[in-house]
Amino acid sequence: MDDLSRALDEILLSDLECPVCMEYMVPPIKLCTNGHNICSKCRESVQRCPTCRAEFSEVRSVALENIARRVKYPCSNRQNGCRDLLSIEHIAKHNAVCLYGKIKCPKPFIGECSWNGLKNDVKEHVQAAHPKAFLEGSTHRDSFIESCWALLFFFGELFRYYKVIRNGRYYAAVQMIGTSSEASKYKYVCTLRAANGIEQISKTFLVRGYSEDWETIFNSGKCLKLDEDTVKHFLKETKLQLSVTLSRV
Ligand SMILES: [Zn+2]
Ligand SMILES: [Zn+2]
Ligand SMILES: [Zn+2]
Ligand SMILES: [Zn+2]
Repeated sequence: MDDLSRALDEILLSDLECPVCMEYMVPPIKLCTNGHNICSKCRESVQRCPTCRAEFSEVRSVALENIARRVKYPCSNRQNGCRDLLSIEHIAKHNAVCLYGKIKCPKPFIGECSWNGLKNDVKEHVQAAHPKAFLEGSTHRDSFIESCWALLFFFGELFRYYKVIRNGRYYAAVQMIGTSSEASKYKYVCTLRAANGIEQISKTFLVRGYSEDWETIFNSGKCLKLDEDTVKHFLKETKLQLSVTLSRV
């Protein structure tokens, strides 16, 4: 984003400030009969327009809603230091992973855990609630032919390993519980060994940031992707011999 569009967004955002809670409004944006705006949350709690005391109408501010769809909003954790700017459709996704606020438990699937808390408390939570998924050290050995995950504690940082099987394909990636730029300082090597002890596949990828979404990582090719036939060939009995090793770039 260049300086000009940033400045322009700031001007537009000042028009999107709710007069009651001072947060930036997102659609639906309601109007009083004199045309003043209010965010939909505050609309629920006040009877009359805080600006002119007139009643509210059911009319929405289409022009302002259109602007809201175009600007980039600062993250709601900006006071805590988050510098991210987000379009409306990315706000909710970002809030779930923003490292300056409460984040979701790193458990990625099947009866997802409802815990959310601060980044500093993730390690303690996973150790207590998902002890099997927690490990200390740089190498994780994955022998499962099902989807699985693990949280690795290494270099004083937390990394989430995640493997999923979809449409006969195996995808595996590592994310750091950190920003994309912090994550880019780390890489991981995936080594798949065959039962004969001779054949092996080894691939290296950069660790991804926590706010990056899995679909995007899997679809972008920035992670390990194996087809079913390859996996079958590399099985030892019914077990995978996949090792994932983290290191600095
Ligand atoms: Zn408000
Ligand atoms: Zn008014
Ligand atoms: Zn944020
Ligand atoms: Zn959890």
